[in-house]
Amino acid sequence: MVNETKGLLVVISGPSGAGKGTICKKLMEKNNFWLSVSATTRSPRAGEENAKSYYFLTRDEFEEKIKCNDFLEYAEVYGNLYGTPRSSVMEMIDNGKNVILEIDIQGALKVKEAFPEGVFIFILPPSMEELKNRIIGRGSETPESLMTRFKSAYKEINYVSKYNYAVVNDEVALAVEKIQGILVAEKCRVDRIKEDILDNKEGIVHEQFYD
Ligand code: ADP
Ligand code: 5GP
Repeated sequence: MVNETKGLLVVISGPSGAGKGTICKKLMEKNNFWLSVSATTRSPRAGEENAKSYYFLTRDEFEEKIKCNDFLEYAEVYGNLYGTPRSSVMEMIDNGKNVILEIDIQGALKVKEAFPEGVFIFILPPSMEELKNRIIGRGSETPESLMTRFKSAYKEINYVSKYNYAVVNDEVALAVEKIQGILVAEKCRVDRIKEDILDNKEGIVHEQFYD
């Protein structure tokens, strides 16, 4: 049998309001993935819990962690710092877990440099009008922060070409299905599994042709 020892590192980005959080939640309900919890200096929104939504830190606490090299990546997004804890992510991947990072584009590009074997997925809204409606509908932003996020979206969409896959989030269920399909295909990529296959021919032949 193929021994897929390492998990996938799946990076999901896209403009604010495109539906990343909604999609990741559904992916987690349907699959045995591990969603990394980031640290941030932004204040919690209604309903957000420390250590579940984010680790909410002061700027001093965050900067201390930067000094200690505790982040796989970090970035300033809309005036606040956000970072991915390094040790828990690496531990999960080494233990064969598929790990999802829902992070901004600057962070994703840093991860891509350090970890090119990751799977980089960009979530797009069906239209800019719908994007605006979704951010307003979420009710989480002041008029100023809504405009900041909306204006940033125009620039951010240009970065889609740096990603491996683009998924339009028209219907959540369909977007989730597309991502599941992408990950199944990624798990079958020869460059990920050829060593396991070549080292274990007996198991492969048995599994594929005689079972
Ligand atoms: P992001 O994490 O990318 O900022 P969210 O997941 O918070 O975006 O989604 C923004 C808003 O849009 C939320 O209110 C969410 O319920 C809604 N939403 C997400 N996906 C869809 C969709 N496919 N159709 C309609 N509304 C959606
Ligand atoms: P929000 O404040 O809406 O939760 O997130 C704002 C942005 O920060 C989103 O684009 C989100 O993907 C991004 N983000 C969340 N966690 C991280 C992280 O650990 N690193 C980086 N670079 N971006 C993050």
